Amino acid sequence: MTATIIDGTALAAESRKETAERVTAFTRAYGWAPGLATVLIGDDPASEVYVRRKRKAAAEAGLEDFHHHLPADASHPQVAALIGELAEDPRVSGILLQLPLPAGLDRYALVDLIPVEKDVDGLTTASQGLLARGLPGLRPCTPSGVIRMLDSAGVRLDGAEAVVIGRSELVGHPAAELLLRRGATVTIAHSRTRALAEVTRRAEVLIAAAGIPGLVTAEHVRPGAAVIDVGIHRTDSGLTGDVRFAEVSRTAGWITPVPGGVGPMTIAMLLANTITAAENAAYAAIR
Ligand code: ADP
Repeated sequence: MTATIIDGTALAAESRKETAERVTAFTRAYGWAPGLATVLIGDDPASEVYVRRKRKAAAEAGLEDFHHHLPADASHPQVAALIGELAEDPRVSGILLQLPLPAGLDRYALVDLIPVEKDVDGLTTASQGLLARGLPGLRPCTPSGVIRMLDSAGVRLDGAEAVVIGRSELVGHPAAELLLRRGATVTIAHSRTRALAEVTRRAEVLIAAAGIPGLVTAEHVRPGAAVIDVGIHRTDSGLTGDVRFAEVSRTAGWITPVPGGVGPMTIAMLLANTITAAENAAYAAIR
């Protein structure tokens, strides 16, 4: 069997086009364009690249760009004051605090200063609470992208056996939550899981988000499964994921490539969250 490749680049382009249309309609209706505020602290090169990509994509969708770069030695009160200003600014529809933060800053305390309505990364305690309760809210971008990819491929989630490798707050945990809400029987595997392959071989839907290059081999995969690779690693031979693409694509029914899979979808979902936040705020204001 050769797996069908789920093309994240094409899907992301489709989603970004929809977002751009919503942004145009919003701008026409209200006379101003919704804005995305990105906050980068310090000089982590990978974070700089990610933020640059997000800002570029936001601008292409017609969103206003509010970027703030603070030095690595920025203090908690300084960062808190900036987030406070962005929280108050009606032109800022979404706030993204790029992680990881430099050592010494409390990411939980700072992230929680982002109002839930502007939490386009879906990372605040409030957003995670809404997700856990199954209430409407902004969902974390990478897991939303994962679900979109599965839906576009026509993978059935209701009643499916799903295994998520990784229990991070950013990816694994919320991905499991979203799958659960869609009716999947969900297992979360993590660094303490014994006999990982035995667990993952049950999966009709397998999400790899462990951050370990090549962790998932053909042996881990049930024939015909949908395998979504959230990992991204820079190696001598280019970018690669948590999944050994060549061998797994011979067993899986669907697979996402790296690059060109989950990565572009994550950015697309950030833009979608930003226009959703803007629409929600405008709707709340006229209600
Ligand atoms: P991300 O933000 O991409 O989800 P993190 O580094 O925050 O990445 O989390 C990695 C997750 O992967 C953790 O939940 C950890 O338990 C899980 N993990 C790490 N190593 C293994 C492994 N060998 N098998 C299964 N899960 C693992």
